[in-house]
Amino acid sequence: MTFKSHMSAALSEARAAGARGEVPVGAVVVDPDGQIVAQAGNRTRELNDPTAHAEILAIRAACALADSERLIGHTLYVTLEPCAMCASAIATARIARLYYGAADPKSGGVAHGARVFTHPQCHHVPEVYDGIAASESEILLRGFFRDRRTPSE
Ligand SMILES: [Zn+2]
Repeated sequence: MTFKSHMSAALSEARAAGARGEVPVGAVVVDPDGQIVAQAGNRTRELNDPTAHAEILAIRAACALADSERLIGHTLYVTLEPCAMCASAIATARIARLYYGAADPKSGGVAHGARVFTHPQCHHVPEVYDGIAASESEILLRGFFRDRRTPSE
């Protein structure tokens, strides 16, 4: 149940990102006691920063709060399969568990593409649970990209 509510918080962040004109992806970091310590949505356009993915922003905020470069025992919830950059950050932060929603065959780096966690250079592998509230996440993403399409395309 807490599990579901944490993905709900990530979905809220995704919706807020979409409302700001960003790709609707949201992420939440939960500490070992089960408390949300950081939550974020994509802000790449707003910040003119290609690294400002939801996961990166949430990890940065959680690390700042923990006063540590590592998030031992923490859990990350994200509405979309993390890209290779974010998967690498998740491993480097030593996050214990990753729950994600929709699969991302185009840009994902966990079950697709670089498959960062299976790479021999990946020194920490989180437990990974996929498909959590995947349909809600997919509906958000599909709606966003449909609305952005112009008649000339
Ligand atoms: Zn990413």
